[in-house]
Amino acid sequence: MEAIIDGVLRFQRDIHPEREELFQQLARGQSPRAMFIGCADSRVIPEMLTQQGPGSLFVVRNAGNIVPPHSSMPGGVAASIEYAVCVLSIPDIVICGHSGCGAMTAILRGESELTKLPAVARWLQFAESARDAVLLEHAGAPETVQLDALIRANVLAQLAHIATHPPVAEALAAGRLRLHGWVYSIASGEIHGYDADTAQFAPLSSSKPPAHATPAG
Ligand SMILES: [Zn+2]
Repeated sequence: MEAIIDGVLRFQRDIHPEREELFQQLARGQSPRAMFIGCADSRVIPEMLTQQGPGSLFVVRNAGNIVPPHSSMPGGVAASIEYAVCVLSIPDIVICGHSGCGAMTAILRGESELTKLPAVARWLQFAESARDAVLLEHAGAPETVQLDALIRANVLAQLAHIATHPPVAEALAAGRLRLHGWVYSIASGEIHGYDADTAQFAPLSSSKPPAHATPAG
């Protein structure tokens, strides 16, 4: 913990004063460019991998970058989505999975991993449809192949879930919101984005408009 407190003190002494103007502006309000829904994994740092500073990303992170479908149950993800869309009028939402995801590995291994983790097991039920599809399509494949497929399939499953949230459905229908499905590779730094027009993941590139997961039209 000492290293973390040292970091806080260094931030207050060196970093905050250097960017005084920015922090004074941010103290008055936020206008983020995008909402970023990522895994809680310590290796997935949204601001680092998108090179964005404070005030740019409205971030939600949880085990497995999961968005439960719309329901009457109170939920932190649903509340954050509602605030992002209705209050902040965020134009883009990214759902980002990542290589080597522990949550996806646990789903793949099933009961042997999850019996000790009842809360995780209940939470990860929101990715079961993705697991079932992957096990069907990649039956008998090595675990690494199944895991990569599941990481992508889970991003697509969560994109389908987020579209069931009324504020999202409304903003999509009005053309005020775009959804993006990404997978970040920790070893290479590459990000593959899902392109609804081709139904493929492809590396993000500056030469074409950003791929998005909401079909054109
Ligand atoms: Zn993860």
